[in-house]
Amino acid sequence: MTSSLNFSSYIFECCCGERFNNVGAASVCKKCRNYSMWGYTKYVINTETDEVVYGVMPTEEEEAAAEAAATKRWEEEAREFAEMIEAQEERRIAAQVEWDAARAAERAAILEDQLWDLQERLMQ
Ligand SMILES: [Zn+2]
Repeated sequence: MTSSLNFSSYIFECCCGERFNNVGAASVCKKCRNYSMWGYTKYVINTETDEVVYGVMPTEEEEAAAEAAATKRWEEEAREFAEMIEAQEERRIAAQVEWDAARAAERAAILEDQLWDLQERLMQ
């Protein structure tokens, strides 16, 4: 056994690819929730021995099913996000239109006043 420390002691890798220096921390990796297709820490391996030290290594079928489910989930999230942005943009445009209409009405009122003044002066 080598006595290498520091960076090389981060040998425990969870299913999202994050490295830890102990199995306990790797088994509750927070990034797995977002970045792993499982949505949680499915397994942790010791990268020096390729041993599964936490959880269970999925079969190819399980992996394919999880990947399909995750892809669907992520697409759904991306669509919801796009819809949210679109709704925001629509509200922004509506507010802009309302603002422009109000300014146009003000300008029309001023012009009308000026027109009245002019007519009055012409009639004198
Ligand atoms: Zn992870």
